[in-house]
Amino acid sequence: MMIPRWKYIGIAGGVVVMLHMLLSIHPTYRATTSPFNLLPSQGGWRGSAPPDSAVPEWGGAGLPTVDDLKNNEDVLEGRRKANAVFVVLARNSDLWPFLDSMRQMEDRFNHWAKYDYVFLNEEDFSDEFKRYTQSMTKAKCSYGKIEPDHWYQPDWIDEDKARKAREEMIKKKVIYGHSVPYRNMCRFNSGFFFRHPLLADYDYYWRIEPSVKFFCDLAYDPFLVMQDENKVYGFTISLFEYIETIPTLWDAVKEFIGEHPDYLPEGNAMQFLSDDGGDTYNKCHFWSNFEIGDLNFWRSQPYMEFFDYLDKKGGFYYERWGDAPVHSIGAALFAKKEQIHFFEDIGYRHEPFQHCPQGESHTRGNCWCDQGNNFDWEWYSCTKKYTEMF
Ligand code: GDP
Ligand code: MN
Repeated sequence: MMIPRWKYIGIAGGVVVMLHMLLSIHPTYRATTSPFNLLPSQGGWRGSAPPDSAVPEWGGAGLPTVDDLKNNEDVLEGRRKANAVFVVLARNSDLWPFLDSMRQMEDRFNHWAKYDYVFLNEEDFSDEFKRYTQSMTKAKCSYGKIEPDHWYQPDWIDEDKARKAREEMIKKKVIYGHSVPYRNMCRFNSGFFFRHPLLADYDYYWRIEPSVKFFCDLAYDPFLVMQDENKVYGFTISLFEYIETIPTLWDAVKEFIGEHPDYLPEGNAMQFLSDDGGDTYNKCHFWSNFEIGDLNFWRSQPYMEFFDYLDKKGGFYYERWGDAPVHSIGAALFAKKEQIHFFEDIGYRHEPFQHCPQGESHTRGNCWCDQGNNFDWEWYSCTKKYTEMF
């Protein structure tokens, strides 16, 4: 009798699961190689490799690769997961550029991790958008509409003043200076995305944009790093902001801090933002087109009040405050510096900059970026300021 091919796969999978259950009783195996514990803190998977003898099941010395995981998808089914989701703000016209990003996310990480996606838009998503995005993944995709108050320029904004500001920026050739939708997007990302009902039941998110690149295989779960190490914000690229877009932002920040000094914990990351103890802003920010973050941090009282305070100043429209400096300032002030994490081993590009992992991380992730093309230590990067804090 012929046994269909898929049955062999099923039987083989069952054997793998049983083998794993048996092996997981052995303490060395459990501590270092179980995909149920895809955690650097438990196995030292990132940074330092476990000793050769500890990882025979994964085919040799060093850290596991995604190939190891691919061959054990059944084992992965029962693994520990974070309560996390990919968040994508997009227009219907972003479909094809976004599929480019999504395909890579699936191939590098999510084909085994299987985290859901939430797509948000101020308009209805088209059937075409839904069909093609869902076809990229086995995970669940949900599509939400943003409520108008969370998106459009509020009535209390003085449109004459806002228009004059836009005209000034056009003269100064400030990028997106002319654009109201871009400002809506920045305000939404700064203060509203984490309040969307589709995200209510999630704790962590990874923001993905259209037309980005993910260069490396990820064989561990960054959401679990966030959760287990009590991180609130993860980045790969940091840089200086154009001052023309935020001339009065730091004044507003200082006023807010003055009213709420108790919101700043000891050991925050002010040093990343200011070279003179908080008097002036050095314009450093984490590039928010990539973010892995804690939704509950944005939902916390200090950040919610901070956003509200900034919003009332009108700077999202009278200037062009970006969600990158707003998030960065919020994270750097209201969290401890150790809670902000540099995902050094996630290779990432958003035009025109890229972070390419170096050395061992590059090898482990099978990265396809040129290590020589790495923004981290360029003069325009702020990552040195981040690492100098530790
Ligand atoms: P840039 O990275 O600063 O150049 O800005 P992008 O054009 O990439 O926009 C940032 C993110 O917001 C992307 O995920 C876009 O798809 C999304 N986005 C930008 N403008 C709009 C908009 O008007 N509506 C919606 N729904 N999404 C937008
Ligand atoms: Mn972008």
